[in-house]
Amino acid sequence: MRAARALSKLASHDREVHSRICAIILDMRKSGPRSIGGNQLDGLPPLREVAAAHGLLAKKSLGQNFLFDFNLTRRIARAAAPLTNTTIVEIGPGPGGLTRALLAEGAQKVIAVERDVRCLAALAGIAHHYPGRLEIIEGDALEVDLAGLIGEARPARVCANLPYNIATALLVRWRETEPWPPWFDRLTLMFQREVAERIVASTAERAAYGRLAVLCNWRCETRILFDVAASAFTPPPKVTSTLVELVPRPAPVPCEARLLSEVTQAAFGQRRKMLRQSLKSLAGGDAGSLLASAGIDPALRAEEIGVEGFAALARALGNVRAGHSKP
Ligand code: SAM
Repeated sequence: MRAARALSKLASHDREVHSRICAIILDMRKSGPRSIGGNQLDGLPPLREVAAAHGLLAKKSLGQNFLFDFNLTRRIARAAAPLTNTTIVEIGPGPGGLTRALLAEGAQKVIAVERDVRCLAALAGIAHHYPGRLEIIEGDALEVDLAGLIGEARPARVCANLPYNIATALLVRWRETEPWPPWFDRLTLMFQREVAERIVASTAERAAYGRLAVLCNWRCETRILFDVAASAFTPPPKVTSTLVELVPRPAPVPCEARLLSEVTQAAFGQRRKMLRQSLKSLAGGDAGSLLASAGIDPALRAEEIGVEGFAALARALGNVRAGHSKP
């Protein structure tokens, strides 16, 4: 009963608010489902009412930009479909807009990790409405062992309107999961538009193509699903957001993650220079032999090399380090 434990931590004022919400829920259960923005979802109170009742004014320090429109949260939930028989891990449920959409759309279970204790009472109301289907974890998603949480429910799926301040750190963690294929079969995540473009970029999109794209696309197939206007959030962020999908590749091109990270760092660290120059630091000054054994033209620049090329470079570097070939 993690939800119960979380609730017991709340101040008495919060408990009072929670009782008021429970009363509203009971009242609504008697009177049947109500219309929410022209949209019947689950019979729970509208999100704005919930946020107001719990005093959930958005905190910038926690990357809080809430979605209150169920048409939109359902669209995001459906993008992660099929949800039946699926355990969804949600990072940062906040007042529960996406959480409720995921549950209403049929997710077997949602495990929601939230750092802001102010949100716990609102989430407890949802857990009460969907018995046994919502597990609330109070904590920092960067510290929580998500793979441990899902236990045998594998593969799980991650669906989240991420807090922007930790979005990239979480993505790195998921991308570096070992063993691979990982504990999730898909990541459906909201990023700032500019980050989304950098995740899915190929060599054809020079300006956006970089280390992030190589590392993400090595292990996952990536694509942009749709944009969400800043005005859809409360408060509105300064930029457009974009929902991105990452599907783990069952068998990524062989190479060591650590070495791929190293070659991409060196190559994109000096992206305007030819590889024979930018990779010098890796190969004892002789990048030419490294590039030759990877079959790559030394006069090319990082932004002209695709994922397969970088994987070949990582393998060549591994061979050099193992003493199998020069330089
Ligand atoms: N899912 C909600 C929605 O769509 O309306 C809220 C999304 S809001 C962009 C990000 C959420 O992540 C907030 O509820 C915030 O409190 C939570 N959060 C921020 N940092 C976190 C962390 N380190 N671990 C877990 N949750 C965090």
